[in-house]
Amino acid sequence: MLRIIFTLDYEIHGNGEGYPHDLMIEPTDRLLRLCEKYGAKLTIMADVAEILKFKEYKEKNGRDDYSYDAIVDQLCSAIKNGHDVQLHIHSSYFNARHDNGCWVQDWSEYDFAGLPYERINWMIGTCKQFLESILRPVDPTYCCVAFRAANWSVSPSENVVRALVDHDIKIDTSIFQFGCRKGIVNFDYSQAYSPIVPWRVKKDDMCGRDDTGSLWELPIYSEKRWIGAFLTSNRIFRTFMSFRHKIHQDGRSSLHVKTHAAPVGEGWLATVAPDSQGAGWLATLLQKHAWKADFNQCGSKQLINALQRASRRYDPRKDKVLPFILIGHPKLFTQRNERDLAFFLAHCAQHPDEFEFDTLHGINGSRWQWEIQDMSGNK
Ligand SMILES: [Zn+2]
Repeated sequence: MLRIIFTLDYEIHGNGEGYPHDLMIEPTDRLLRLCEKYGAKLTIMADVAEILKFKEYKEKNGRDDYSYDAIVDQLCSAIKNGHDVQLHIHSSYFNARHDNGCWVQDWSEYDFAGLPYERINWMIGTCKQFLESILRPVDPTYCCVAFRAANWSVSPSENVVRALVDHDIKIDTSIFQFGCRKGIVNFDYSQAYSPIVPWRVKKDDMCGRDDTGSLWELPIYSEKRWIGAFLTSNRIFRTFMSFRHKIHQDGRSSLHVKTHAAPVGEGWLATVAPDSQGAGWLATLLQKHAWKADFNQCGSKQLINALQRASRRYDPRKDKVLPFILIGHPKLFTQRNERDLAFFLAHCAQHPDEFEFDTLHGINGSRWQWEIQDMSGNK
């Protein structure tokens, strides 16, 4: 039995441009309604670093241009309706300043995993406390239990694992097997334990399994695929958006930051592009690349096929509970994506014996722990 978990990275453009009403609230509202139509749940991964900036802006200027109140209302209403809200952190926002309609971020804090332990610890503690303070009045049992780093930056892992464990976070969901980045953020997840089966992470390496560890990795589902699998209309839209909202270089040209929405390669182009010298296009075409189950960028047929491959390969007897984690961004939830996603949701809803919808908070209940332990031993 695959438990389908839609995780949504809730944020404005990565270069600090844009407004939450258009990029977060309106599309998330449509997404919540679409999920509800099919009995699905959404796990909103709220970038609390930027939400705290929107709060500060409102208090300082006496104007809610960044829709702080509407964001809190949306998160509360999501919890009220059985969805989930968990933690996402773009660390470069903590020292950001507002300038000419844009948030100018602190690029020295862009790489979350590269920060000192004390700084990471403070960020996680501050953000977790914020989510619990706004959501517990709605649901007294609410707990912030899951985390995803901006740009999947959890390598090196030691400081991140320690801080997550210190704050009683049970789940990290930043890793996707085969993922690899070089630049301002660096990681190589090619040796990650599994593309789908959760594992308890090693203290100093989230890709590795250590059954005595207390933090679980629930990876974003991924496969290694040829470049053709990346060519969908939604992905081309994403690439166009990335070029339109480039990060301003401002003397930071040595950094490999190319785009706003995909600073170090959230878009397919950055995912598969050769190095900055333009070399290696042939190699790029011939190699296989990490393909994530992204519900805004993949077509519904691609997602259904991936679901079936995962089901056949990892749960042939359908007797285990396996999370199938998808990732998405509200700013990419176009009308076309909405129609496409409806098709995928309908497919899942029509096969209740094979698929169930869940949230990260939901799967963190008591039952899954022994099931996953047992399952991970039988990989
Ligand atoms: Zn993000």
